[in-house]
Amino acid sequence: MTERLYYSDSHLTEFDASVVSLGEADGARLGVVLDRTAFYPTGGGQPFDTGTLAGARVVECVDREDDGVLHVVEGARAESFAVGDRVHGRVDWQRRLEHMQQHTGQHILSQALFRLFDAPTRSFRMMERVCEVDVELRDPSDEKIERAVDLANRVIWEDREVRAHSATPEEAARLPLRKDSAREGELRVIEIENFDFSPCGGTHAHRTGEVGVIVARSWERAKGMTRIEFAAGIRAVADYRLANRAAREAAALFSVGREEAAQHAARLAEENKRLARRVRALEEIAARVEAEELLAEAAEGGAALDDEAARDDPARGGARIVARVFDNRDAESLRRLASAVASHAGAVALLGSREGGEARLVFARAKGAPGDMSALMREACAIVEGRGGGRAEMAQGGGRNVARLAEAVSAAARGLGGGGA
Ligand SMILES: [Zn+2]
Repeated sequence: MTERLYYSDSHLTEFDASVVSLGEADGARLGVVLDRTAFYPTGGGQPFDTGTLAGARVVECVDREDDGVLHVVEGARAESFAVGDRVHGRVDWQRRLEHMQQHTGQHILSQALFRLFDAPTRSFRMMERVCEVDVELRDPSDEKIERAVDLANRVIWEDREVRAHSATPEEAARLPLRKDSAREGELRVIEIENFDFSPCGGTHAHRTGEVGVIVARSWERAKGMTRIEFAAGIRAVADYRLANRAAREAAALFSVGREEAAQHAARLAEENKRLARRVRALEEIAARVEAEELLAEAAEGGAALDDEAARDDPARGGARIVARVFDNRDAESLRRLASAVASHAGAVALLGSREGGEARLVFARAKGAPGDMSALMREACAIVEGRGGGRAEMAQGGGRNVARLAEAVSAAARGLGGGGA
């Protein structure tokens, strides 16, 4: 059994105690149980304290209920602990204060939500940088939550006293407790002067002023409740710095004030959407023009592959073939051009692109034009050491052997005429 000094004095950071037992904690580290401690172990939504014990680092504290508080110790002097030793403990005050601010802040915010909207808090979690409560708040809105935050801050700035009482179940039953306790027997009740009574085993500020300030970061509906993310005191300031820096960086991009940055970003996003639509329309036009040029060249025998025999093969049934390899043309652009070529009667597009160290291929043909694009694509992809496929009229693929891309396109062109040469 460990006497828990933090119950009677949440501001105690230094104490002397005797080692009661030693054991291993998660393998390599040492677990130390003392007859008394000021270290708070994880519980009630509040994380453990850290600090030092006889100069060794306390990296975690675990509540073993009736078996006391287990201090997980790390560092050179850990081996030198022995049962019966007198040791000096020191709790990291900054971490403890930060936790007390969140915890006490939560009591105040929860009571504010309860008073204003009859909305009880069902759970509380303290995370790495922020905290959250799940509240039975119906029809949540920014306005409602800000009203609760305003009331909470008024109570903080009135610097009311925070008292810890020990109450029998009968005494507790007479108190206006905000929530019921699952515990049996003697109950620890935290009172915030003329505001809130809650059963709680955590560490709290002496006065509400110590909490400093409370802010709500965001809220969302979760599991049928309203989940509110908040920060108090030290965490509220740290969060303000982060948010302020982000807002200023965004504002600097537009050379405007911090408050106008979101509006500018929204306008820019809208403009970007409009431009993207315009670019797409222009690309369609460009693809049509380019397709016509390529088809004209193919008809003169200039652009098609240097393969007279294949070109004059009557088996092609007068098909006009555009076989080309481009540099740095993305898949979308290649597809668009292939479709534009294939929109001409009797036309076939066999296109390739070297892009980012990859070979890309798109084959397409007009309805009624000869050739199975999917079959040709599989053969071409074997040459560039990749994979592809599609339908008889349109197929796509690619591979890693960029050096053999032109060869793959030539093979497809021959395959069209010669029946798979
Ligand atoms: Zn509490």
